[in-house]
Amino acid sequence: MTELELRIAIIEHCRSMNATGLNQGTSGNISVRHDGRMLITPSAVAYAEMTPEMIVSMPLDGEANAWVGPKRPSVEWPFHRDILRGRPEIGAIVHTHAMFSTILSMARKPIPACHYMIAAFGGHDVRVCDYARYGTPDLSKNVLSALEGRSACLMANHGMIATGPTLEKAMWAAVELETIAKQYYHALLIGGPAILPDEEIVGVLEGFSTYGLQEKRA
Ligand code: 13P
Ligand code: ZN
Repeated sequence: MTELELRIAIIEHCRSMNATGLNQGTSGNISVRHDGRMLITPSAVAYAEMTPEMIVSMPLDGEANAWVGPKRPSVEWPFHRDILRGRPEIGAIVHTHAMFSTILSMARKPIPACHYMIAAFGGHDVRVCDYARYGTPDLSKNVLSALEGRSACLMANHGMIATGPTLEKAMWAAVELETIAKQYYHALLIGGPAILPDEEIVGVLEGFSTYGLQEKRA
């Protein structure tokens, strides 16, 4: 994809995450790795009014203040940049204040293996990172540690982060995470879910290597 196509795709995904109820207002933000840099949504701009040139370009290495664009980058640029720096397999990051993910994050409840789809996030659970204020280096540190061996996490008293090798896959993961968060929340209301054993999740992970949104194989 060209940089312009990526900028357009970021805005389309922002609008769709609000239209589908995965996010609301100007909460949330999206970033994509491109050419050694990060393309990230500007801070506090309504998605309906966002235009491709407003997407901020920032270096992944080098000075943080070397960002380019007419608006300031999302306040969450530190964790977006640090994830892209520390996790080379990740190409895109979606952060939202999705309802059920956020409710679980407020209760500091990690999502256990209550459904086999938990494996879509890399293991037998999705963790809740420790609380730190939005936009801080501490939040970035906490997020990175909750993401160890995982592609998604909840953020205490805040929301969720889903990642993927591409923007399309990161958004797919965000929708799946909110779905399992909603299912887990409701299962808790009727006495709590049965939890799948670790060895079952290992088997599901093996199956996932040949299932779903895969790159075309030669
Ligand atoms: P931005 O508008 O700066 O991206 O902030 C939204 C948000 O979700 C902060 O956590
Ligand atoms: Zn947020």
